Amino acid sequence: MSNEDAAAITRRGLMLVLSSPSGAGKTTLSRQLLDNDKQIQLSVSATTRARRSGEKDGVDYHFVDTATFRGMIERGEFLEHARVFDHFYGTPAAPVEAALIDGRDVLFDIDWQGTQQLKEKAGSDLVTVFILPPSTRDLERRLITRAQDSMEVVQKRMAKAADEMSHWAEYDYQIINRDIATSLMELKSILTAERLKRERQVGLSAFVKALREGR
Ligand code: 5GP
Repeated sequence: MSNEDAAAITRRGLMLVLSSPSGAGKTTLSRQLLDNDKQIQLSVSATTRARRSGEKDGVDYHFVDTATFRGMIERGEFLEHARVFDHFYGTPAAPVEAALIDGRDVLFDIDWQGTQQLKEKAGSDLVTVFILPPSTRDLERRLITRAQDSMEVVQKRMAKAADEMSHWAEYDYQIINRDIATSLMELKSILTAERLKRERQVGLSAFVKALREGR
């Protein structure tokens, strides 16, 4: 390699995990990141929960029944899976592995249980970010405004939020989502810095060698 080949240096793909209680704005934030950054792709989870209006099968989730989900577990098709709010959620392994080998990054919108499982498997490929709402009132308002779920479900999710938030310190980074634009900027900064980390620079030593030798 000569030092003219900087563009050809490949980087190891990273796995960016976003977790938060429901209603902290994580879905909006991840959509905006995906729109803004073409090097990262969403890991589309499988779930047994019902499709909400506006959600597309294969885009937001792979909506499957419980028997199909169990089959996927038995065949070892998940990188991680967990039960959240009476439903099953899991990350199909194959698309993630394909992306990482290709040097593309993958975004995961998963809960703390899934994050713990990925930590055991992914090591330094994993970057974890926890999104916090600015206040309880804000969290409640967002869950009600969303109006996709019944009041009973909203109340259940509020109770679960406290539980989810107790895991904040297990994450590498924390973002308090006061406004989406600032949070997006913070998230992009984390991603940029993580992409530049030494251990992800496959082939950099050959490039530096060429630089030092004046080739
Ligand atoms: P929702 O039903 O609101 O889309 O998601 C509920 C919760 O399940 C969210 O906290 C979301 O991050 C989490 N979740 C979504 N997909 C997965 C997954 O594949 N694995 C795990 N462990 N959690 C998931």
